[in-house]
Amino acid sequence: MNKTISLLPSFQMNRNGTIVDAHVHPIRSLATGESIIKEMKEAGVKKAVLLALDLDKNVLNDDIELKNQIIQDLWAYSLFIDPEKLINVMYQMLDIGTTPNSLIAKLVADFPEFFIGFGSVNPRKNEETVKNRLDEIKSLELKGIKLLPTLQFFKPGSTLEIIKNRHQRQVNANIKRIFSFAKKENIPVLIHPGKDPGPWEIHTLHCVQDSHPKIWRNILNRFKNNKFILAHLGCYGCDSYDDTWLNEAVNLAASLPNLYLDTSAVPYHLENKQIVKLIRKTCSFEKIIFGSDSPVVYRSSMLHSIKIIENSALLTELEKDLILFGNAFEFLELY
Ligand SMILES: [Zn+2]
Repeated sequence: MNKTISLLPSFQMNRNGTIVDAHVHPIRSLATGESIIKEMKEAGVKKAVLLALDLDKNVLNDDIELKNQIIQDLWAYSLFIDPEKLINVMYQMLDIGTTPNSLIAKLVADFPEFFIGFGSVNPRKNEETVKNRLDEIKSLELKGIKLLPTLQFFKPGSTLEIIKNRHQRQVNANIKRIFSFAKKENIPVLIHPGKDPGPWEIHTLHCVQDSHPKIWRNILNRFKNNKFILAHLGCYGCDSYDDTWLNEAVNLAASLPNLYLDTSAVPYHLENKQIVKLIRKTCSFEKIIFGSDSPVVYRSSMLHSIKIIENSALLTELEKDLILFGNAFEFLELY
């Protein structure tokens, strides 16, 4: 039987109209303000966080060193693929995915009762561009910042990497600049860990391996008073890596009081006995926030993701309340 249909009879919707979805992408070719609101109403979602994506489709033409690295990573995966073709797919996906801060601000202005807007800034850019983006986020009154190491091609470097590499020094300085800004404005930073769709499913890519939660541990520890969300329970699309990626994420959330995890794209982990036990033992469900990643997850939706959590026989009613609205109300200060 189709899994979606089999979930329907027991779906209680007892949290209908109170749910917060902390991870929604208003990708221009896939969604409009109206289509997102329609989906929210069908799923019983009260508020949705809309995420900007500050991507650069030309980066792979402009940065030869990065392009060569990606070609090597793709060859390491398979000698039977054409890197140029995949790089062209990357170019198209970067173009489609670009979601300007101004678009998010417009959607929030048009539908303030439904949406909360998070901006985005690319730490790979030079200091002046990053400062301008942060000014933009402030003037548009956006309430958070999204960072996407996979599609923005960056990572926080280790001390050794900073010493050796001028570009890495600039990236680290920009990450610190972004975190300091977020602290001053009292807004959270949402960080994407794990793979991403399309060519970013390929695990040999540096930009995928560099989005492991462990790589963020040092710098997050230095910004303990900031508010962070690590998306996808730390492990989007990481199949055989789930154990290490998810483990690192829940332990990180346990050790940092202001770091939360969202369930976007991976709600099915809350149907796994071992993972539910692990979360209870480490960061607890007081650190888990619902996110759907709608509309970018193939064959998923807000309603589908919510049903998985509502119908999970492993979670208590209180844990469901915490995940679906309680933690988000507290974290996003929606009271
Ligand atoms: Zn996402």
